[in-house]
Amino acid sequence: MKNKNKNFETDSVRAGIERSQFGEHSEGLFLTSSFVFKNAQEAAKRFSGEEPGNVYSRFTNPTVKVFEERLAALEGAEQCIATSSGMSAILATFMALCKPGDHVVVSKSIFGTSVQLFNNFLAKWGLNISFVDLPDLNAWEAATTKNTKFYFLETPSNPLTEIVDLKKLSQLAKSKKVKLIVDNCFCTPALQKPIDLGADIIIHSATKYLDGQGRCLGGAVLGKKRLMNQVYTFLRNSGVSLSPFNAWVFLKGLETLKIRMDQQSDNAIKLATYLEKNKNIAKVYYPGLKSHPQYNTALAQQSSGGAVLSFVVKGGQKAAWKIINKTKLMSITANLGDTKTTITHPATTTHSRLTQEQRDDAGIDNGLVRIAVGLEYIDDIIADLNI
Ligand SMILES: *Cc1c(COP(=O)(O)O)cnc(C)c1O
Repeated sequence: MKNKNKNFETDSVRAGIERSQFGEHSEGLFLTSSFVFKNAQEAAKRFSGEEPGNVYSRFTNPTVKVFEERLAALEGAEQCIATSSGMSAILATFMALCKPGDHVVVSKSIFGTSVQLFNNFLAKWGLNISFVDLPDLNAWEAATTKNTKFYFLETPSNPLTEIVDLKKLSQLAKSKKVKLIVDNCFCTPALQKPIDLGADIIIHSATKYLDGQGRCLGGAVLGKKRLMNQVYTFLRNSGVSLSPFNAWVFLKGLETLKIRMDQQSDNAIKLATYLEKNKNIAKVYYPGLKSHPQYNTALAQQSSGGAVLSFVVKGGQKAAWKIINKTKLMSITANLGDTKTTITHPATTTHSRLTQEQRDDAGIDNGLVRIAVGLEYIDDIIADLNI
């Protein structure tokens, strides 16, 4: 496996650390809503911003700050703003940086709740949204208007693991004076660094692989200081803030991010290879397989295929449900990004609100099963599937 991330492991464990006067070795957990000042003069200076320092944990907390600095180091971003969830990271970005009449081009294959946020809320405040097929660069170009401010996408997509060429799309974005936002939830910076490929803003649901063990909700927005200052002002005034406790849990998660992502990807390619040879499986979607339509792009921009794969079982929903119901080890849940392997049937869970026609259009077959591969011994996972 290529190691494109110089010093990544060291930064994962140590970046951003700041010790208190007690000399604690592990990162301190500052569970406090507010901070005290030496005198009235200091309070005034802190409030006016004349003097840096902590004021109130809605917008300044030392534990949250260590998490922000560590994730910024891992993504190669100037600044990181931590938020209460992945959804609030997306909300904060668009509320802070868009105004009524702005237009955004969005990949059709994004997290379902993100689609709801765009269509039901951001649109209500005057944001114009066009949805396009993720890998189709011509579609991104054709959808761009003079009011287009952002491109927004996830790559690989969920659950079909489609991929867009980030270098080419960021070149297009630059030529159109559009900023490129990448939700890097699936790969994390351990496998893909969109800023190095030309992206302007990174979004994270820290709830997934950054935590990695299914404990806490959180999110983050990363990018240039000039843009992040505006996101920070929104956070300060709206309160979509990350709890210091959750930030502390995520710090522990980041320490093992690379070894988890590498091992979970190794497990996923073994499972994908096994499934591809199985006569009961019609199709396997995984970017690490040579049969994947964007295999070469995946190879160029990711250090592995990631931990999520999906496959179509011959026999439709009935056959897919039978496989899911026979498993004893895997967790039947739509969540992902955990050390525990999860299995789900997209057509009747994550994509059940779509009509059959919309599902056909999105390529969500009734026989489709998605697995987010965890850290169990891979032969146990394969035996559990028992296909
Ligand atoms: C889960 C998820 C989100 C939303 O994150 P929450 O932390 O659940 O709010 C956004 N984007 C992607 C790709 C996700 O998987």
